[in-house]
Amino acid sequence: MSYAVKEIYYTLQGEGANAGRPAVFCRFTGCNLWSGRESDRQSAVCTFCDTDFVGMDGPGGGRFQTPMELAAAVAEKWPEWGSNEGRPLVVCTGGEPLLQLDAVAIKALKDRGFQVAVETNGTQAAPDGLDWICVSPKANATLVLKAGSELKLVYPQEDCLPEQFEGLEFDHFFLQPMDGPNLEQNTSAAIQYCLEHPLWRLSVQSHKYLGLR
Ligand code: SF4
Repeated sequence: MSYAVKEIYYTLQGEGANAGRPAVFCRFTGCNLWSGRESDRQSAVCTFCDTDFVGMDGPGGGRFQTPMELAAAVAEKWPEWGSNEGRPLVVCTGGEPLLQLDAVAIKALKDRGFQVAVETNGTQAAPDGLDWICVSPKANATLVLKAGSELKLVYPQEDCLPEQFEGLEFDHFFLQPMDGPNLEQNTSAAIQYCLEHPLWRLSVQSHKYLGLR
């Protein structure tokens, strides 16, 4: 199969347990919970998305015909001196990356020396070979992926409460304040929840505060 990718770029991971770690971000085109068109937002399953995942027109984006082509485009973004300076990491994101990312693409990325992480809404099964699975559940979307490295819940979401996820098999549980006009209030609420429920840790979108992509 081929892979439709919005953009590929090198930055620091801003969120969750890997915050601050250098990584190549590979943003796949498309999501199953929203078309990405503003005119559809209110009728979408997921209404608070802050990401442009439509098309293949971003830096480094395009259609890659084979897993090897995709892996080569990702490897091109990792700095040349990196091979001896820490394990390369690629964060496969979207949109919903698991609509496209498959086991052969993961293998091709690993053959290039990458640890492969995914940031998913959890509605799709995960292919074999992933090194890091970050699931961000959404209200009104059936959760299929119930185990992984970190569960990162955007907070608050009506009908999607932290208590619903506490029994699942994740190594880390994060609350991330929902961005938008109520960010300050949402941040206070998330802090308060973490203080009262220490299973949960606060995740802030540090890349936004730091001016990173
Ligand atoms: S599931 Fe993720 S990528 Fe899809 S619309 Fe929601 S926030 Fe955006």
